[in-house]
Amino acid sequence: MLKKIEKTLKQYWGYDEFRPLQKEAMLSAISGRDSLVVLPTGGGKSLCFQVPAMSLDGITLVISPLISLMKDQVDGLVDCGVPAARLDSTVSPEDRTAIYRQAFAGELKLLYLSPERLMSKGFTDFISDLNITMVAVDEAHCVSMWGHDFRPEYRQLGRLKQIFGAIPIHAYTATATGQVRDDIAKQLKLDKPEILVGSFDRPNLFYRIMQRENRMKQLKEIIDRHEGESGIIYCIKRSDTEQVAKSLNKEGYKALPYHAGLTDEKRRKHQDAFIKEKTDIIVATIAFGMGIDKSNVRYVIHCGMPKSLENYQQESGRAGRDGLNSECVLLYSPGDFALWKSIMQDMPTEALKISEGKLSYMYSFCTGATCRHQAILNYFDQKLENDNCQACDICLDEVEQVEDALIVAQKIISCVARLNQSFGSNYTAEVLTGSNNMRLIMNRHQELSTYGLMAEHKQPTIRNWIEQLVGQDYLAKVGEYHVLAITKSGWEVLRGNITPRLLKASEKTKDTKSKAKPKAHLNDLSSGQIELFEILRQIRREIADKKGIPAYLIFNDATLHDMAYQMPIDDEQLLQIHGVGVQKKSKYGKKFIKAIIKFKESQ
Ligand code: ADP
Repeated sequence: MLKKIEKTLKQYWGYDEFRPLQKEAMLSAISGRDSLVVLPTGGGKSLCFQVPAMSLDGITLVISPLISLMKDQVDGLVDCGVPAARLDSTVSPEDRTAIYRQAFAGELKLLYLSPERLMSKGFTDFISDLNITMVAVDEAHCVSMWGHDFRPEYRQLGRLKQIFGAIPIHAYTATATGQVRDDIAKQLKLDKPEILVGSFDRPNLFYRIMQRENRMKQLKEIIDRHEGESGIIYCIKRSDTEQVAKSLNKEGYKALPYHAGLTDEKRRKHQDAFIKEKTDIIVATIAFGMGIDKSNVRYVIHCGMPKSLENYQQESGRAGRDGLNSECVLLYSPGDFALWKSIMQDMPTEALKISEGKLSYMYSFCTGATCRHQAILNYFDQKLENDNCQACDICLDEVEQVEDALIVAQKIISCVARLNQSFGSNYTAEVLTGSNNMRLIMNRHQELSTYGLMAEHKQPTIRNWIEQLVGQDYLAKVGEYHVLAITKSGWEVLRGNITPRLLKASEKTKDTKSKAKPKAHLNDLSSGQIELFEILRQIRREIADKKGIPAYLIFNDATLHDMAYQMPIDDEQLLQIHGVGVQKKSKYGKKFIKAIIKFKESQ
């Protein structure tokens, strides 16, 4: 069976190797046992059921929460020569009849459906006559209230077992928390499922986190490293998405906003423009993302801190699905913390407690000085194999550390002690810099021994260090007024037993472009090859425009990279390229080969 799977993977998708856990997930799908597969975004979950569906008799039903997601996947499959179809509200009655006929005739291998359709009475009658091999539930976390994307209509899937009896059910998700995982198995009533959980590390994502100082300047610096490439900018507020998009357009960038306040039509238009590469940048709230399978998003910037690390992992994870190196930058400010707190205010007590806990963790992640990859994995109870990820600002030493961190921390913490742990970070920073603020004078705090002790630093710098100390649990913010208190480990710092890690407030701005380049194993391109890559991209765009489908569905960036590097000049060589299957070779091969030959001759 493994041989058959490998052959199918090569023939239809043009891939020679499995991604981690794909082989196990495919074998599990074939074994006839239920399964739950947890892989990060871009881990290649779709293939885990698509390849087995092609290798087995009968039809596989795929449940998917969004029409756009189904459309993309089905378009992509048909383009690879896989007989697939979808039944959703946008399919005309005539097409629906044709799909039913194909399904009965055994001409379809994969049928995509929304949960509502699957559960509708007429439909359950219809499928009782089909030869169903398995049911795949995509984005399975939507069934769980604990997840970040709960969809009430997914709850109906609890009846799947009742309807389908012995037919195996396979659930797929990128949500890594154990609580959601257990809930999926429970809600779907999976029968002794094989549970496969992959590593949540995304080594091709390069993380950078910095304080937001001059938003537009910082944004432009990042975007300029990715000229002509696709990127997502996330903002917390709708008004910010509009503002940022407007300012970027004014400066000559191609950006469109996206948020729940726009009309359905506008949202669809903007999303389409991004997917079809008519615009480079989408500036969005978290309303944007689910159902976006665009594999060549080269950067994701957060203009504000997300409310949890799960959210950050999901949103930043939309970069680099094709495995090429991509950049994720998070611009945060202490104000984001307060903003989220005020947004959360009306939550029921229990939910508020959970959300506040997640928010604090997120803030510690921003202010922390540990490897970003490691910190994300820690959150999901996983570990990084190497000490140095080689793909974050901390491990690559882009962020300078304070040399005398112990002394700096001791000065700050002792000032908090002298203020009887009764003041917030602004006030503490004022005392340390020796401010003449009236309130301070009235409190006679200029008489403290720590008054002016750090006069050589600016107040924002000290406030930043305070945040870092809070993030590392040496100080805590307590009560309604966020008064600073010294934790147990904070007292250890005062005694000199622990040295905190403190980052310099203004980070070094190195030339980081080189680090955002494609992965070495996908071959670094020479300048000539980059020129060819651009030509191939143009051809891809023309084909996509003509067909009205997203460019990355024709060939993804990794495939074009490999083509630009290998420069195949005949069918046989083209089939050796990563991501070129038999059908795509026949459909598009000629145009690409012609361009490559022409390019070679011109050299
Ligand atoms: P997920 O659903 O887990 O986010 P996808 O199934 O959308 O990921 O896959 C992401 C990208 O990786 C797609 O472009 C897909 O074709 C590609 N991919 C999947 N499996 C492999 C593989 N074994 N080798 C190379 N590319 C792969």
